[in-house]
Formats: sequence, C-alpha cells, structure tokens
Amino acid sequence: MTTIRVENLSKIFKKGKTEVKAVDNVSITIDSGMAFGVLGPSGHGKTTFLRLIAGLEEPTSGYIYFDNEAVSSPRRVVMSPEKRGIAMVFQNWALYPNMTVFDNIAFPLKLAKVPKDKIENKVKEVSEELGLSGVLNRYPKELSGGQMQRTAIARALVKDPKVLLLDEPFSNLDAQIRESARALVRKIQRERKLTTLIVSHDPADIFAIANKAGVIVNGKFAQIGTPTEIYEYPATDLIARLTGEINLIQAKIIENNAIIANLKVPLNNMELKGQSNIVIGLRPDDLTLSDTLLDKYIDMGIVKVKLVSYGAGIFKIVVSPITDENIDIIVDAEEPLETGIETHLLAKPNKVKIFDLN
Ligand code: ADP
Ligand code: MG
Repeated sequence: MTTIRVENLSKIFKKGKTEVKAVDNVSITIDSGMAFGVLGPSGHGKTTFLRLIAGLEEPTSGYIYFDNEAVSSPRRVVMSPEKRGIAMVFQNWALYPNMTVFDNIAFPLKLAKVPKDKIENKVKEVSEELGLSGVLNRYPKELSGGQMQRTAIARALVKDPKVLLLDEPFSNLDAQIRESARALVRKIQRERKLTTLIVSHDPADIFAIANKAGVIVNGKFAQIGTPTEIYEYPATDLIARLTGEINLIQAKIIENNAIIANLKVPLNNMELKGQSNIVIGLRPDDLTLSDTLLDKYIDMGIVKVKLVSYGAGIFKIVVSPITDENIDIIVDAEEPLETGIETHLLAKPNKVKIFDLN
C-alpha cells in the first residue's frame, strides 16, 4: 500500500505573540501495511500530526513523503488531501440522518462523480464485507449502535483508501460497542493491509489496533516501540501512566532493595545508578494479595486492606503498608477482601519497574 515517511516535521501555531510548537521536529517512518498508534495526553500534538499527514495543515518545516513522493514540504501542501488516497474517521462517527445506509456509504463516490452502476457495485461489495447487506434501505435511526459504526467504516472504505487515519475514533461510543468497534477496525486493517495511523489518549485503542506505537509528549515522540514494549518497559513514569494503570511509589534503595515503609522489593537484576531514592512502578495486575507465597511471586511484606471497589470485571483493592497508612497501593483481585484485614502483598519480580525520582 503506502509507506509514509516524515522528516523533521514541525508545526508551530502562533497565538498572538506566543508560539505553540504542536509538532516538534518529528522524524518517523510508517511502513506500508502497518498500523501505527500515537498515544499522548490531550493538547500534545496528536491531532495536528494526523492533520499534517492528511494534508489539512501545511508544515512549518519538514517533509512528508508517501512512497518517496513529497506530499508536503515547508509551508506547502504539495498533494491535496483528496489526492492522497486517505480515509479519515473522527470522534463522531456521524451518519447523515436523512440518508439511507446505502446513500450514506455511497456519498463519497457521488461527490467524486463516480458513474451510478459503479457506485452500486462498490457499495454492494463493501456492505457485504461489513455485514450490512440486509440494512441498506434503513435510515440511521433504525440501526443498532454496531450497525451505525459499521456504516461509518463502510463509508470510509468505499473509495478503497490506501491510508486510514483515525482520530480518537472510539471515544464517543458506548463502552460495549467500543470493544467491537476496535476489533472491527483491527480486522479490516489487517485484511486490507491498510497503512493506518490511529491517535488516541486511550491506551486501549492503541493496544487493540496498533502493531507499532509512539508516545507523543509536547509534540515529540518520547518513546517508540511495539505496544507491549512500551507497556512493559516504559521509559519514564509519565509514559508508564499514559499506557495504563500503575502504582508509582517513592522508595529508598538499601542494598539493592527498594524499601517502601515496611515493604521490600529486591532489585537484583535492575540497573541502578547509585541512586538512594527512586520511584517504583507496580501495575495493579502484577500484584496480588495472599497469606501464603505463590509461585512466580515475591513477598513484599504485610499490608492492610483499606478500600475495596468493583468495576470492569475485577475488584480494586487499595492497601497500605502497615507502618505507613498514607501510602496507597492498588491491587487487582478476582475476589473481594474485608477492609481492615492484614495480608501479604505479592509482586511479579520481572514486572517491577523503576524510574528516576523527578
Ligand atoms: P491533541 O490532539 O494531542 O489534543 P492538538 O494537536 O489538537 O493536540 O493540539 C496541540 C497544540 O496545538 C495545543 O496546544 C493546541 O492548542 C494547539 N493548536 C492546535 N490547533 C491549533 C490551531 N489551529 N491554532 C492554534 N493553536 C492550535
Ligand atoms: Mg486531538
């Protein structure tokens, strides 16, 4: 399909006298057929990066190449968005309410003045691919949430794009539909080998779809890797937090152990640089509570159960070291525990993360 190469790309917005570097000297290649995810907090340049790739913004400096052809250069959109072979899906998957499913899907082809018989064939093909053949005469209000979202994808695919650009595509969907929407986009992306760029603040979107990802902070990629690499080996505590729930706790280093009140984590195989204080990162699903030692875990010490809540199929148990009730540690659990009881906090030693103290 299309390889996208970005070279020293910057976009500076001027707001009165102040300048905002929305995208700051980014160089990156998105190989043909790859799904690249951009994760980052709000306001850090994700949408601007995507709009630059789409040709909706001109770079302040730098270049964008589609298969070695320069499509954007400093202060110039060389190839217009219409000519780039891109499809875009934004936050709202809004359909035209006064048009049938057929007409919604056909709309981009009608705009492009494609002959009627060709439109019919193409709509038929893409609606079969997405399981919409039976509802082509319905109006959006007569569709289920899932059908609406499939119609929006069909409309994006009807012109056989080479590149798919998705900006926070799932954030306005109900939680139940969101899961299936992610799975559907992933399936279509893999089947069609579409070069895909998805940007989101939600790591679940990125992990569900991307085979490579970058974390953007202040308009720059702070870390690039597979989603698993970034999740398991975040370069900083900020990236650790952006990629998923994590306990970040200050610890003292004493003889290769991280000490948190009465709790202790051996750091045998970790690269310490002689620091006496660090931040230790423990994801709730790498921790468990038990009165006995379990295989593949280490015993950190005794904690007290402070709070128990339930959500998304698991219990969240907040515990504290028995000698310091001000420290909260969240542990995922399948079973609830009584508040006030004392038990052992166990951790998977190979999942413990350490960060510099800021
Ligand atoms: P994100 O999508 O990660 O939330 P954006 O790319 O929308 O971030 O914005 C990055 C920065 O650029 C923000 O500070 C935002 O206010 C600024 N910005 C984005 N678009 C414009 C614009 N058209 N004019 C001025 N500033 C803008
Ligand atoms: Mg945005």
